[in-house]
Amino acid sequence: MASSSRVVLFFELLACLLCPFELSQGKAKEPFTLKNLPPLQKASSYHAGCATTYDYIIVGGGTAGCPLAATLSLRYRVLLLERGGSPYGNRNVSYMENFHIGLMNRAPDSPSQAFISTDGVINARARVLGGGTCINAGFYSRASSSFIQEVGWDEDLVNKSFPWVEEKIVQWPKIAPWQAALRDGLLQAGVAPFNGYTYDHVSGTKVGGTIFDETGYRHTAADLLAAGDPDNLRVLLHASVHKIVFDSRQGRLKARAIGVQFTDENGRHHQAFLNSNKDSEIIVSAGAIGTPQLLLLSGIGPKNDLKNHNIPVVLHNKYVGKGMADNPMNSIFIPTRSPPRQSLIETVGITEEGVFIEASSGFGQSSESVHCHHGIMSAEIGQLSTIPPKQRTLEAAQKYAHNKLNLPKEVFHGGFILEKIDGPLSTGHLVLTDTDVRNNPAVTFNYFSHPQDLNRCVYGIKTIERILKTNRFSELSADGAGLSMERVLNMSVQANVNLIPKHTNDTESLEQFCKDTVITIWHYHGGCHVGKVVDQHYRVLGVSGLRVVDGSIFSRSPGTNPQATVMMMGRYMGVKILRKRLGRAAGV
Ligand code: FAD
Repeated sequence: MASSSRVVLFFELLACLLCPFELSQGKAKEPFTLKNLPPLQKASSYHAGCATTYDYIIVGGGTAGCPLAATLSLRYRVLLLERGGSPYGNRNVSYMENFHIGLMNRAPDSPSQAFISTDGVINARARVLGGGTCINAGFYSRASSSFIQEVGWDEDLVNKSFPWVEEKIVQWPKIAPWQAALRDGLLQAGVAPFNGYTYDHVSGTKVGGTIFDETGYRHTAADLLAAGDPDNLRVLLHASVHKIVFDSRQGRLKARAIGVQFTDENGRHHQAFLNSNKDSEIIVSAGAIGTPQLLLLSGIGPKNDLKNHNIPVVLHNKYVGKGMADNPMNSIFIPTRSPPRQSLIETVGITEEGVFIEASSGFGQSSESVHCHHGIMSAEIGQLSTIPPKQRTLEAAQKYAHNKLNLPKEVFHGGFILEKIDGPLSTGHLVLTDTDVRNNPAVTFNYFSHPQDLNRCVYGIKTIERILKTNRFSELSADGAGLSMERVLNMSVQANVNLIPKHTNDTESLEQFCKDTVITIWHYHGGCHVGKVVDQHYRVLGVSGLRVVDGSIFSRSPGTNPQATVMMMGRYMGVKILRKRLGRAAGV
């Protein structure tokens, strides 16, 4: 005990020493402000017959779409169409303490749209300017250099694009006690070395960045719009794009994307068009669910599926919507002597086996907050697992959440340690359920259908067991003597988030535990893979004037958590496009 405490103390001191150095890493010389934010207009302000045409029309003002729009607007006229509203002035978006309330808001125009995969796991997708960065847990951690090499990005430009994001919206967390406990527990359990405060993806234990500032205020990808040219950038909110318009006249080798059709907040239809420049493009940044959905609705996809929905085929491509994946997450509930302070994710253990360990804790401290929830793991936000098909409803989740009010208070005293696996080999698909873009398509992830994924889950749970046995975690338990794994597995199955049919061997077979308690950490990706739906530059194969820039192009979610790399990719692709068109004159 004495020697391991000394090790932890050493690491704490090291972290303190490193902190001031790290704090200065990548900081802007002049503070970034929102004074150049373009006006955020409602879609109904768009006038039919409007003579303006655009160099770029970007569909989806999300994590990738905002930095991309800002960058392209430095030289070209850009129209950004976002189906959701503004994040500004929305307390559920802006304050960390309201994380859960925002996610459980089921209003048709709320920033979070719930969906249930056919696997039975409840999930969420963003519906707000700023996209996932407005509803996520805020953790900021870059992709590994091997990921950057794998996807073939220019490392020099990547290394310039990450700081472009970081200096505007990323901070170091003031580490919460539960996150400090995980850091120490990971190190004592051998997930070493301690890499201090760093955005980099390196094996061992680290504290990453966050988009929440020290007051708990959230900075989002929407803020990055202020880095663009407001005179060149038109942003429309509540603009739901339901179709890409193609010019398929005979004589053309390929159909060319020339515009989009969208609906405003009053249900009125509009069209917007590109100018006639051959380099002008529609860029779809509608996310891993929204982008394949829009391609399908626009006639690009498997022809039989399109015909089933009476969608005229522009291009048969059997791969659209295929290869969808989500990083499965399983969590262990750890009761503590006193309720820990709320925290989302700040610390991560990166193991050589491709299993990442993170943690969350506590209640929202807001007076507006719902009581009796389990923070990031709340049933209120839909963290249910595989339940019988007929019970897979949001109503079931809400009923469960309501019933939790009757649970003893003690079950809410505690935190979670989460494990999730990198690059799941189990993949699935996305298909349309109807032709209304507002409705979710049907998504299947096939969690743990590949045995290696299941093996890695078991490895992750065993790693958590080692962490639990450390002094750091024994000290947190009610009697200071620690908790048996059987007890916490049992509580994890029963007390927290599951409506799943229990199996009697859940606490004996870790494989069964993994399958029965699988949930999401919302890192779903794929559906428009490189070489199948898009080329190396993310231009849609088989048509012209159409590109995809978002998480749908990934075969593996980048980093421990993806938002850093998705924002970086928006900036990166913007610079790439400008340089291709303008060479040195691009000035970026
Ligand atoms: P999005 O950011 O979702 O952008 C897509 C945008 O397109 C949305 O704004 C959407 O409204 C819009 N759109 C969709 N369809 C249309 C249409 N037809 N017309 C017009 N607009 C449309 N990552 C981390 O790194 N750290 C975390 O802590 C973290 N926690 C998470 C917690 C939650 C609850 C969630 C949901 C995600 C979390 N993530 C986290 C994941 C990360 O936020 C996402 O992977 C990332 O934001 C996805 O970016 P994207 O650009 O692909 O899509």
